[in-house]
Amino acid sequence: MKRIFSGVKPTGHLTLGNYIGAVRKWIEEDQHRADALFCVVDLHALTVDHDPARLRRLSRQAASLLLAAGLDPERCVLFVQSHVDEHARLSYLLECTATDGEMRRMVQYKEKAARERERGGSVRLSLLTYPVLMAADILAYGTDEVPVGDDQTQHVELTRDLAVRFNQRYGHTFTVPRATHPAVGARVMNLQDPSVKMGKSDDTGPGIVYLLDEPDTVRRKVMRAVTDSGRDVVYDREGRPGLANLLDVLAVSTGAGDPAELAAGYSSYGALKRDVADAVVELLRPVRERHAELVADPAYVDGVLRAGAERARALARPVVDRAYRAVGLVPAA
Ligand code: ATP
Ligand code: MG
Repeated sequence: MKRIFSGVKPTGHLTLGNYIGAVRKWIEEDQHRADALFCVVDLHALTVDHDPARLRRLSRQAASLLLAAGLDPERCVLFVQSHVDEHARLSYLLECTATDGEMRRMVQYKEKAARERERGGSVRLSLLTYPVLMAADILAYGTDEVPVGDDQTQHVELTRDLAVRFNQRYGHTFTVPRATHPAVGARVMNLQDPSVKMGKSDDTGPGIVYLLDEPDTVRRKVMRAVTDSGRDVVYDREGRPGLANLLDVLAVSTGAGDPAELAAGYSSYGALKRDVADAVVELLRPVRERHAELVADPAYVDGVLRAGAERARALARPVVDRAYRAVGLVPAA
């Protein structure tokens, strides 16, 4: 059976982008067809300025939301990254495999570092090395497939390069994984600025739909989405990105499939936006309701995470031990 690994960072509240680009596929496809692990990657949230109490809250919230959205602990392993030491242990070996030039070429590093500097902050070294820790997350489990949004493609490519290089130097140790993406919605754009992706740690509130937004808020954000001055509804990602984004969201939320076909059914932006708003409200309603139940039962969520970490540890330890031996480190007696 194929092994699948993916994760979300508790850097903010989960967004519609996270759901459509990644989480929905985990729930509807991946957990049913593979041996799947999903992780709240909390160590990655330490790469930017963070508040400890908020991080703790957001990590629990992310786990509860993934369960609320439909991850089934009977079908997959759900756990918190920092509960499994193997990620950090392996990350160091991969730092000794990667080069600093490779790290500095990562687009996300360049963007996030520029943003930190604009805010007058300093850039944590871990922001630069973050893709190496992500490679460790993936390689520790002998992962075949990594279901992610488009923006993570470069990091998964790096992971592949590191696996191949390590295997060539030290003998076959790691499975070489590949990224998979949903057919539609692999990059959901910010509703206020369709030239940038919807990201949970961005500041432009009205352009981001959060999974826990109330129906009224969702409606307001969708109705105010920036489109363009055209009148006809056509699907053109390059020329009409705001409109194409709404059609993508509608296609995924209603399960209609093809956004270009959907476009043909509309003659005004207003009608389209109303349908998008309705569809997203209905998509999120059960998630919000189930999340409220889970918040009332923290012991259940903690139990799932405890069991998940145990299972994850048992899978990762032999792989990481093998890597330690392969590079020539003396095994502990
Ligand atoms: P941050 O701004 O902190 O990087 P994020 O919203 O990008 O947060 P991540 O935790 O980095 O969220 O990513 C979790 C998953 O969601 C990844 O698979 C990522 O590719 C996917 N994802 C994130 N944003 C989008 C988006 N706008 N459209 C589609 N997929 C997305
Ligand atoms: Mg991200």
